[in-house]
Formats: sequence, C-alpha cells, structure tokens
Amino acid sequence: MTSGDEVVVALDVGGTGMKCALVRPDGTMVHAERHATEAARGPEAVVGTILDVAEGLAGKAHAGGLTPVACGIAVPGVVDEARGVAVWSANVGFRDVPLRELARRRLGLPTALGHDVRVGGLAEARLGAGRDTGHVLFVAIGTGIAAAHVVGGSAAAGAHGAAGEIGHILVRPEGPRCGCGRPGCLEAVASAAAIGRRYAELAGVPVTAAEVADRAVAGEPLADRVWREAVEALADGLATGQALFDVATIVIGGGLAQAGPRLLDPLRAALRERLTFHREPRLVAAALGDEAGCLGAALLALDALN
Ligand SMILES: [Zn+2]
Repeated sequence: MTSGDEVVVALDVGGTGMKCALVRPDGTMVHAERHATEAARGPEAVVGTILDVAEGLAGKAHAGGLTPVACGIAVPGVVDEARGVAVWSANVGFRDVPLRELARRRLGLPTALGHDVRVGGLAEARLGAGRDTGHVLFVAIGTGIAAAHVVGGSAAAGAHGAAGEIGHILVRPEGPRCGCGRPGCLEAVASAAAIGRRYAELAGVPVTAAEVADRAVAGEPLADRVWREAVEALADGLATGQALFDVATIVIGGGLAQAGPRLLDPLRAALRERLTFHREPRLVAAALGDEAGCLGAALLALDALN
C-alpha cells in the first residue's frame, strides 16, 4: 500500500479543457489546476501540453514534499486501455497515440490511460453516487451520451475499447440523424445538444437544454413537449441498459444532470413504466461533478500499481 505522502498525477483531457490534479490514494485532491486543450493546434501539440502539464504536476508534488507514485490520464474517444493507446478521438484529433508510453517515459512513473466516461464511472461507483452498490451504470449526458458499466470497482472496456456507447442505441428509427451517420440514435434525440436543437427547430429560438427544462417547469407547452420527448427516449435507452446489465444503481452525470429532479423525477417514472420483470435500479444524480474524470484517472493509476 501507499504511504501518507504519496500522490498520483491525474489528468482528464477534454475537447476544450484539461482538469488536472494531485490525488491521494484515498481520493482526496491536494492540488488542482485547469488548462486549455486548444485542440485546434493538432494532436501533437495537445500531447506536448499533456506531457508538460503532467511533468509540472509531478514537480509540484516534489516541491510540496509529496511523492508522485503513478500517473493516470483520461481521454475521450476510442481508447485501448490494455495497450495504453488513444486510438481515435473526434474532438481532440488523436489517431493511435501511445500516450501511456509517452507519459511513462517523460515522468519515469507507472502510467495508466483510460477512457473519460469509463473513469468517470469508476470514480462515481467507488467514491461518488454509486458508492457501496457494486453494480453501477454511469450515464454521462452532455453534448453526446455515453455510459460505463462498473462491476466491483472496475469498468469493462470491451474487445475494441468501445464499450458503453449507449448514446448510439437506436430509439427513434424515424428520428433525427446522429453524428455517427444513422438516424434515430439516443444521443440524436436526448443529449443536451439535441434538446436545444429540437426546441430551436420548433420555436425558432436557440436555447440551451437547461433553459428548456426551466421553461418546461414554468409550464410552457412547447418546452414541456421537447423535454418529455427527451425523457421518454432516455428511459428507452436506460431500460435497454437495465435489461443488459441489471445494475443496482444508475448514476446520471454530464451537463444535463444539473437539471436535478426536473430530469430525474420524470425519468425515474418513465423507466419504471418500461420495466416488467427487471428489478428497478436506484436512479441518482452524479455526486462528483466535473471532477469525476480526474479522480477516475487517479483511481486507474492506483489500480495499475496493485
Ligand atoms: Zn449514433
């Protein structure tokens, strides 16, 4: 086990920003910082920034009398966790980047590479809203929709690093076209981006999903209709998830989770209507906010040490 002055260098790399921290083995952050990803510079420049920031964090640990023992990095897209390769990412531009080896060489520390949503799920399942429940489905709803199935504290990546793409479950065959090219995927109907788009299409006014939720609560019929459509589609997706995984807890994260009970109360009811013999999971909001990915990257690094 690790001793009292040991920390892990953790980075959660997103399309726009990087959340970075020094994290103790018990999951407490001793230092946190944020940097711009500036993905438009291209993947090589982004990798350079990731390595510089990681090295800088290790230096800060030493300066503070702490010992960095490992590094964990979370990235979006398709991630081959076994080989430590960022295979593909639409918003950062990664194509087969051996990020784990690059960081290991630069820092001289054991390094783990993980998928942003899977490590976020790991953190929620072990430290957050799914704590102590064993079987957890973490669903992140933001620009897109993705999930992580966590059992006994670890998330399965799939044979090709692409498990958990719940956003591409077909829910509305006649629905809007998804970014993946097919019409009717869950995320084309119910992501935060899709909700905003749908309302704008019907009302001619561009608003965010959060505002659609506010207007729905205020009794505006159009907003109520758009919100309800999204909730029904989400319930279809979650019912499929529950049929596959039979989890104890579904944790809803991502930007849309900030709608709180305005999302969770109707979603819970709609999910209940869809379940027949399946047991109803607890449906809760994520507890760790946008720090989940960074904490999860730290957990992955600690797991790699053991
Ligand atoms: Zn799709």
